[in-house]
Amino acid sequence: MKVRVFGRELKVKIVDSLEDGDFGQYIESEQTIKIAKKCFKRKGFAKAVLVHEMVHAILGIGGLAQVLSDTQEEAICVALEELAYHIDFIGEFENGDCRNA
Ligand SMILES: [Zn+2]
Repeated sequence: MKVRVFGRELKVKIVDSLEDGDFGQYIESEQTIKIAKKCFKRKGFAKAVLVHEMVHAILGIGGLAQVLSDTQEEAICVALEELAYHIDFIGEFENGDCRNA
């Protein structure tokens, strides 16, 4: 799966696990968002994690991350991940489930 943020295609990879038990990770240098498989155990949660990481990407690509502290950036991402419950993805992330996970 891929998502597009400000015209950049980002790969979305489902991985067995991430460092420090994280749920998701945006890796700017690899143009990739990774989501841990465990996120799919709770309905809708993987979609929230994807949105959270997409907000990291938006802030990074848009240049806002450069003027925010890590704490500020994370707070914005946590607040906006709630968007996941108000927007719909068509396809693999529909209803927060991933058929390929
Ligand atoms: Zn985060």
